Amino acid sequence: MEGKLVVLSGFSGAGKGTVIKKLMQSYDGYVLSVSMTTRKPRDGETDGVEYHFVSNEAFEDLLKKDGFLEHAGFVDHYYGTPKAFVVDNMAAGRDVLLEIEVQGAMQIREIFPEAVLIFIAPPDAEELARRLFGRATETAETVTKRLVQAATEVKAVPDYDYLVINDDVDACADALNRIIRGAQAVRDSSGECPEAEAAVQAGQDRLENQAGSGRVYTEYIQKKSFAGKFGVGLAEVIALRA
Ligand code: 5GP
Repeated sequence: MEGKLVVLSGFSGAGKGTVIKKLMQSYDGYVLSVSMTTRKPRDGETDGVEYHFVSNEAFEDLLKKDGFLEHAGFVDHYYGTPKAFVVDNMAAGRDVLLEIEVQGAMQIREIFPEAVLIFIAPPDAEELARRLFGRATETAETVTKRLVQAATEVKAVPDYDYLVINDDVDACADALNRIIRGAQAVRDSSGECPEAEAAVQAGQDRLENQAGSGRVYTEYIQKKSFAGKFGVGLAEVIALRA
């Protein structure tokens, strides 16, 4: 049986990578697609692990050969998902995780309407700013660029299937697994699987009892309201830095 395609987006620098690592350590059957990028490696990043770091020429070469599933320009650089890895792993029955930004996510929705799109966000804009400032590898200019980028990205939150709040790594990874495997069960039973829906629901209730850690929003109106408040918070943080 073919694996599921899962898009995980979130503001850059908000701790999404840590949650994805936790998800893969805690549960079997997931593989993470390693993207290609033209940006330079940060301290501690290794070619072939976090990304395949390539020149503009090499990126454009693969693009010409139709080697990307999706690609996007983001803060001065190109990022893309090499096609072969995704196709091969889905065929082998693994659930493939794509950690990509919103333009790429929307391209994936077009090509794979059955993909599950999840947005991972910190509880509020102030927390995002705190996490970005805490990242010693970024210059002040890049942090501001990323905050401005986040203000654009947050508008796309309501278009994702799920919004998961990342205020506790374990709870967030647990919520992601429930969503993905729940969605899998729904699909496996041709759209009729009340047990899977109930499992997702039960997970939310339990997680909400833990002071809101790993909160999951699926209702359009809730996602829109979160995005609206987050956008206002970001505008304030950006204005303070200007
Ligand atoms: P960073 O430079 O912080 O590693 O990543 C910047 C942004 O690019 C993040 O939002 C990340 O999810 C996104 N990104 C990473 N790889 C890809 C990719 O292959 N395609 C797209 N569209 N976005 C990506």
